[in-house]
Amino acid sequence: MDKTYNIGPRAFVLDQDKAEDAYSAKKIINGRKTMTFNLLPLKYEWAYNLYKKMKANHWEPEDIQMQKDVEQWRSSSISQNERWIIMMGIGYFSAAEGIVGDNIQHVVRELVTAPELKLVLGRHAHEENIHADSLLYMISSLGINPHECEAMFEQIPTIVRKNEFVTRVSHKLRRDLDLTQPENKKLLAQNIFVFGQVMEGTQFYGLFGMILSLARQNKFPGIGQMFQYTLRDESNHIEVFRNLFMDLIDENPEIWTTEFRQELVEIMKEGIALEKEFIRDCLPVSTVGLSAQDFEQYIDYIADRRLDDCGLPVLNPGVQNPFPWLAEVIDVKKESNFFETKVTDYQKASALVVGNDDEL
Ligand code: FE
Ligand code: MN
Repeated sequence: MDKTYNIGPRAFVLDQDKAEDAYSAKKIINGRKTMTFNLLPLKYEWAYNLYKKMKANHWEPEDIQMQKDVEQWRSSSISQNERWIIMMGIGYFSAAEGIVGDNIQHVVRELVTAPELKLVLGRHAHEENIHADSLLYMISSLGINPHECEAMFEQIPTIVRKNEFVTRVSHKLRRDLDLTQPENKKLLAQNIFVFGQVMEGTQFYGLFGMILSLARQNKFPGIGQMFQYTLRDESNHIEVFRNLFMDLIDENPEIWTTEFRQELVEIMKEGIALEKEFIRDCLPVSTVGLSAQDFEQYIDYIADRRLDDCGLPVLNPGVQNPFPWLAEVIDVKKESNFFETKVTDYQKASALVVGNDDEL
């Protein structure tokens, strides 16, 4: 029997029996493995919707004007502390974006089985490439020596420790894994939690906050804008990984034990401690609007939001956001005005090419 399925504005007629079989064979892990990209019938609608949303937010580094940043970088109006924050931002993210993209392509996208999950993870990896490219654009615009930047991955102990923390989790999964075993399912859930909620969800926010604080004082406005775009992308990445995590747990409830939940909270604690060390490295002395103590509290606040969103107990109940203005910029629901022009531009451009049905 034929049945019509609607996905956004599109309608598809599928044989109901075949569609139901295909639907029930779709799983986060251990589902039907196929080399063909059978998106229909969609089971994980959130994955397809986020794919469309991420694509509509497309940006390119060259969209951003860097003249003012270059002038400031060369002038004496910018303090050594402010320059150091930019260097740490470029140094840390140059390594981190690559590590995230690599983990998606070689671990998570390989292990999930439903095609719509592979679709959104492909876009996620592509956005990490755009972020890596935006850092090259900053390096070349400011005339920073790329070797100096690369050396930071190895020579700044707080960067080395943050990178080791995530690569350890990623490397645990690079072998043939029998994902019917609860221990291995836990390793994957742990990976998805660490990358989405601890790294992209928490450890990225120290620098995001510092660089946006500078931009708020009209310092390095081009870099600030790139970090705003990056941050908007990261909000979607956190959402992709949170949904993956929740559905993986939902489909494999045997792994959601008290011990495992405790283990995840301990990992978050470790991630927070590493981020606080890193923040103190970025802000050796307090300057206008930038105190290490406030940023540490900010990390506690962000980490609790991530834990709570994953159904885990928070670490600092009642902790306040020390930067209410930053919430305005960062909160996904509130930031649409911020990016309205850009998003509309790309949406219009894509609508011209493929027709209005491309919008969801
Ligand atoms: Fe990124
Ligand atoms: Mn990301």
